[in-house]
Amino acid sequence: MSHHHFDIDVVVVGTGMAGLVCAHRLRRHGVDVVALEACHQAGGRTVGVEIDGEGADLGGQFIGPGQDRVYALAAELGVATFPTYTAGANVLETETGRLLRFRGMAPKLGLLTLLDVARARFRLDRLARTVDTETPWHSPNASALDGQTLRSWIDRTVRTRSGRRFLTLACQAIWACEPSELSLLHALFYIKAAGSLSALTDFEGGAQQDRLDGGAHGLAGKLAAGLGAALRLNAPVRRIERDDSGVTVTVDDGTALRAKHVVVAAAPALAARIDYHPPLPAARDNLSQRLPMGSVIKYIATYPEPFWRTAGLSGAALSLRGPIALTADSSPRSGNRGVLIGFVNGATARDLATRSPADRRTAFLDALTRLFGPQAGTPVTLVERNWNEEPFTRGAYSAVFPPGAWTQLGPALRAPVGRIHWAGAETSPRWYGYIDGAVRSGETAADAVAQDIHPSR
Ligand SMILES: Cc1cc2nc3c(=O)[nH]c(=O)nc-3n(C[C@H](O)[C@H](O)[C@H](O)COP(=O)(O)OP(=O)(O)OC[C@H]3O[C@@H](n4cnc5c(N)ncnc54)[C@H](O)[C@@H]3O)c2cc1C
Repeated sequence: MSHHHFDIDVVVVGTGMAGLVCAHRLRRHGVDVVALEACHQAGGRTVGVEIDGEGADLGGQFIGPGQDRVYALAAELGVATFPTYTAGANVLETETGRLLRFRGMAPKLGLLTLLDVARARFRLDRLARTVDTETPWHSPNASALDGQTLRSWIDRTVRTRSGRRFLTLACQAIWACEPSELSLLHALFYIKAAGSLSALTDFEGGAQQDRLDGGAHGLAGKLAAGLGAALRLNAPVRRIERDDSGVTVTVDDGTALRAKHVVVAAAPALAARIDYHPPLPAARDNLSQRLPMGSVIKYIATYPEPFWRTAGLSGAALSLRGPIALTADSSPRSGNRGVLIGFVNGATARDLATRSPADRRTAFLDALTRLFGPQAGTPVTLVERNWNEEPFTRGAYSAVFPPGAWTQLGPALRAPVGRIHWAGAETSPRWYGYIDGAVRSGETAADAVAQDIHPSR
């Protein structure tokens, strides 16, 4: 094959929300695209499944204020949004199994603990405001902030044991990892990328405020359908060669595509499993060696009706006892049946995964029964998705930066390597790790590549 012959302008590797948006937008720019997806369906971390004849999100599903690009995309595709059900009381289960009902984000933990947690939240927000999301490594005090974990900060800052326990649960809920795994600088970057800590934790006014009609997977499905034959499923990319004039992208079955550019739209740990020739710069490879994915098992339990609503409960719960970290109401907009989603996160997810499917089911339903009563224990259907087992995701919600990664190797995260460009929720300075971040990253990569191909436009 001549090096001056191109099969296509651009190959996009991976069709999560980032790759889908990137391919969609490149076509809008008049650029010829092929999108290669390893799995049998598009969507990545926003993939769907049919349960009892209705679609459900196995991965990301909530959106909220400030996530302007995903709202714009939904509007463009004619997908309506609707508010997450939040009427009624939330529940916090204490370590000893006591149930505390509360509204908003402040469970009645006792005055000292409440003050302690409020103070910690205030300090995290204040510190986060000092972080530069474009170049976190240039933030004031970056090396000190990146030289400690969220755990060491909590241990030093939070005085009460129950306050420390609550913030640990918050970390598991937000990042799907233990506070000991997470760089403080990354936690602060992530908060700033969303706007504030409450933007991360809240339903109303925060990232869990709204849902998409037909689910987030429906949005991915529409983008995938729009790509038509430009989307190739069951096509894991194994090798990317680059030279001065273009790239050659080779799929598992040996098919090779010669293109002017390639956009790799997968999390760094997954992007690193592709063979690059010549090899990637040391800093880029070193960075991806350090960015493990979080650990989450998502459960979807369906019921004939949302029975917790009649008991005055919102369906949102937090548990300090576990194994469930948090739950939410995910019933259809009509409310004509009940759906509860539950998350088992961090070390608890890794631990639960070692048990038999029957044991896991029992552990999950026991916890759900403690939170919502006996009806919760007999769902019509219970679906489980352990994201760590997915061969082309290997964890979620997103990559977890340990100490030292941002300050030592951060610049390699987004910098293109010749004609290889990076997209994905991990590359976005706004809403890192979220659907909106993925959308933004796809747009940014598409615009950069299109500019190179059609500089006049
Ligand atoms: C359980 C769960 C709950 C979440 N909740 C929310 C939420 O409520 N709100 C929110 O905003 N975000 C949420 N998230 C996060 C959000 O879903 C992700 O940040 C976002 O979807 C990531 O999109 P992406 O395109 O960057 O990556 P991905 O979705 O991971 O896409 C990468 C794609 O690349 C493919 N791929 C990988 N390697 C190759 C290869 N070699 N060749 C070809 N293809 C390859 C993968 O199969 C995948 O399709 C959640 C995630 C999970 C898992």
